Amino acid sequence: MMLKSWRALTLWKRVFIGLFLGILIGLGLHYGLGPEKGGMIAEKWIYPFGEAFVNLIRMLVVPLIATTLVSGVITMGDPKRLGKLGARTLGLYMLTTFFAVWLGLGIGTLIQPGAGMGDLISSASGSIDAVNTRLEAGKNAGGIVDRLLAIIPTNPINALADGDVLGIIFFSVLIGVGILLVGDKGKPLAAFFDSASEVVMKVTMMVMNLAPYGVMALMAWVMGTKGLGILSSMGKLAFALYLACFLQIILVYGGLIVKTILRLPLARFFYGIADALGVAYSTASSNATLPVTISCAEHNLGVDKSIAGSVLPMGATINMDGTAIYLGIVALFAAQALGIELTMTQYVMVALTATLTSIGAAGIPSAGLLLAAVVLSVIGINEAQATVIIAFIFPFDRLLDMMRTATNVTGDVAVACTVAKWEGQLDEEVFRRKSVV
Ligand code: ASP
Repeated sequence: MMLKSWRALTLWKRVFIGLFLGILIGLGLHYGLGPEKGGMIAEKWIYPFGEAFVNLIRMLVVPLIATTLVSGVITMGDPKRLGKLGARTLGLYMLTTFFAVWLGLGIGTLIQPGAGMGDLISSASGSIDAVNTRLEAGKNAGGIVDRLLAIIPTNPINALADGDVLGIIFFSVLIGVGILLVGDKGKPLAAFFDSASEVVMKVTMMVMNLAPYGVMALMAWVMGTKGLGILSSMGKLAFALYLACFLQIILVYGGLIVKTILRLPLARFFYGIADALGVAYSTASSNATLPVTISCAEHNLGVDKSIAGSVLPMGATINMDGTAIYLGIVALFAAQALGIELTMTQYVMVALTATLTSIGAAGIPSAGLLLAAVVLSVIGINEAQATVIIAFIFPFDRLLDMMRTATNVTGDVAVACTVAKWEGQLDEEVFRRKSVV
């Protein structure tokens, strides 16, 4: 009986129930058995279930992007439309990031999360080694020119094997265009990709049924290992970030995009993306959430496959509004803690670097924090100081990462809906429909 009513609940409700139960279980372990024992149980016995879920969705990222993108380009029917689509997508992504970064700087200036934190920060030595190792690993990532060049995969099989999203996008678009230009002879391949994309989407929906349990395990792990301490030591920083992300979601995506540009009901938009929000929040990875994001956009919001399959993977890689907000706030946090007065020019520099860095950040956990040093350097914070700041935030970053990832993903979907509408590829009836899968 209970099982039946559980299954009758829409998926997003089950995901959120999982999320809250996870928090309760984690806190129960942390405070019931003590941080040591409770944390150990959460890490050893609960986290593997969460990791299994994350791996299951990550498993689908490459096949899903490749098949939906190729079949999406084919459905578009005309290679010339791609240029316009690309320009609109990039333009909107830049616009939302622009709002995000200034919103973050505004809130960071108002709330002053770093004020009086100077002494606390010097106590961060515990995590410095861990941070240093990760920063070193990140240094091999190369500069902006290398990153641009890397979009062209010299070996597409390697790109697929490495899960190199931009390389896969590039190659898949070209294959789609090739199939279109070949005409009749390309038809079997077109049918293959169409069928493959349907099958991979079906598997995604199957995996999504496990989301409530995966999300529960991930939340129980975070809370079980860290407890509520995660809130108190990061209090103001977390508050500033959550507030700015919340405003970005409500004002920019909701008010500006959904209400004003799309003229569609706000509540339906949020119902439609609820699964993706739950998964993004608990996994802290836009890449791992991608299959869910695509599925929500297509099935709940009526975004055509051709748009969902192209705009969303691109967004998961380059559009990170939550990360941009965060980078701005961390820069202010550091400046306030170290007593640096920022000039207007420095604000603009922070905004610019935060935008560029958010574009370069990978959609994986902690990516934003490890890149914070780049933004800190433009306000004169040296590498050693930056490491201390990053080390201070590092142990609690998960809580911040979850919120910025949820924001990143919401931004991707809002832009996908807009591009779809402009391209005449948004089924508004599906968007407005009451029931959500
Ligand atoms: N975890 C974020 C994401 O996947 C990136 C970041 O660390 O800011 O979207």
